Amino acid sequence: MANRVIVAGGGASGLAAAVSAAESGAKVTILEHRDRVGKKILMTGNGRCNLTNMSDVRGKYYSTDSESLDRIYAAIDRFDAAKTRDFFRSLGLCTKEKRDGGVYPASEQASIVLDVLRSACDRLGVSVWTDCELAAVRPDQTGGTVSIVKTVCAGGARNGKAGMAKERTNKTLRYDKLILAMGGKAAPVAGSDGSGYQLARKLGHHLIEPLPALVQLRCEGDFFKALSGVRAQGRIVLLIDGVETAGDEGELQMTDYGISGIPVFQISRIASRALYEGRQCEAVMNFLSYADGTGSRYTAESIRAFSHKTVEAFLAGMVHKKLAAVVCRQCGLASDQTVGQAGARRVMDCIDMLTQFRVRITAPNAFEHAQVCCGGVPLREVDENFASLKCRDLYIIGELLDCDGICGGYNLQWAWTTGAIAGAAAALSR
Ligand SMILES: Cc1cc2nc3c(=O)[nH]c(=O)nc-3n(C[C@H](O)[C@H](O)[C@H](O)COP(=O)(O)OP(=O)(O)OC[C@H]3O[C@@H](n4cnc5c(N)ncnc54)[C@H](O)[C@@H]3O)c2cc1C
Repeated sequence: MANRVIVAGGGASGLAAAVSAAESGAKVTILEHRDRVGKKILMTGNGRCNLTNMSDVRGKYYSTDSESLDRIYAAIDRFDAAKTRDFFRSLGLCTKEKRDGGVYPASEQASIVLDVLRSACDRLGVSVWTDCELAAVRPDQTGGTVSIVKTVCAGGARNGKAGMAKERTNKTLRYDKLILAMGGKAAPVAGSDGSGYQLARKLGHHLIEPLPALVQLRCEGDFFKALSGVRAQGRIVLLIDGVETAGDEGELQMTDYGISGIPVFQISRIASRALYEGRQCEAVMNFLSYADGTGSRYTAESIRAFSHKTVEAFLAGMVHKKLAAVVCRQCGLASDQTVGQAGARRVMDCIDMLTQFRVRITAPNAFEHAQVCCGGVPLREVDENFASLKCRDLYIIGELLDCDGICGGYNLQWAWTTGAIAGAAAALSR
């Protein structure tokens, strides 16, 4: 008899698990509480879906428990980027690799990734129950039962808004194996509302506080309003309690409340966790990293050649005008002050500030703006196939687990890896 596998959550990991379980002979049902599966996949890579990365994965993943990193890499070695590309090729999707190793669908359309997963589910006979929320789980000696809240629209309501009525189906569904694939709390607009964490807890798991990761950072400084919209190539270093802890380089973006851009996202999970632990976080940005990064090419003599220019105009030759204006103000120079009036020493102070623009980070932006969560169910509470060590016949995959990757396709890779491994194991284990 084929195992009856229920996959709770029709996101990236859930769809991969469903396909994998069905390919291994299971009778699979996906429960998705939104009106369609895979909403978040459509948002990925700015609608292009950076679905994996061919670079070496070492150093690209985090876990709150650093001892779990070996488990993460062991799993990814079993189902890596090459296997992911083969998997999608077998579903009829060609992929292409970019210079940084990032892999995208050949058409650069995220929707095709979802299309091929849905069509594989159709072909393999996977039942997809949308508008169905997994509300409770009752494990027993031979699997268990789940109760489902079916959402129905009443009174012509659209998009789940006004007029929505919820009905609890009195029918429960039996499973031999249950896979929790309900995502974290990041981007709840796509359906991940944190309910998976609560269910995992009720089933005996611990939870490492989920926090926003791959997210903008809010900073102190009234000058951010003036900087809003500035994009600058630069390097960012994260200081935790004054100690350099992480860094990255690329396009830094200024917002009216703080900092954004890929380099900020890359360090954000470390800042998020440190702030949660009550530690002091600062960012030091170098806006002259495109040159030699030190500003040393500017000597007192070379600066004097620009005596007639305002300091602001002089700095605007190196960086965005708004940044030049803010740096002048921070250094106590009026906007009409010339290089000659300020003197070479004070101008060099401004240049120094451009190489070490230091701000205090106050908080990560909210889950609504985050791409992923850090934290979740500890990896030591699941085995190498992501089967729960706390509750029989249960598997936990994807972002629900305490694993998060940097930008570049690594988070979806984690979803495919955990889904593929757990799906097959759930189908085949007795
Ligand atoms: C804007 C954005 C861009 C991104 N771009 C990339 C990228 O280019 N590359 C990359 O690698 N990663 C990217 N990510 C991250 C990536 O999307 C996630 O890591 C990945 O989707 C996590 O997969 P998951 O299956 O664990 O969770 P999710 O994709 O969040 O899926 C969880 C599913 O479970 C459903 N669900 C939740 N609770 C219940 C319940 N109680 N009952 C039934 N269903 C439930 C949800 O509706 C959802 O469909 C991006 C994320 C965002 C927000």
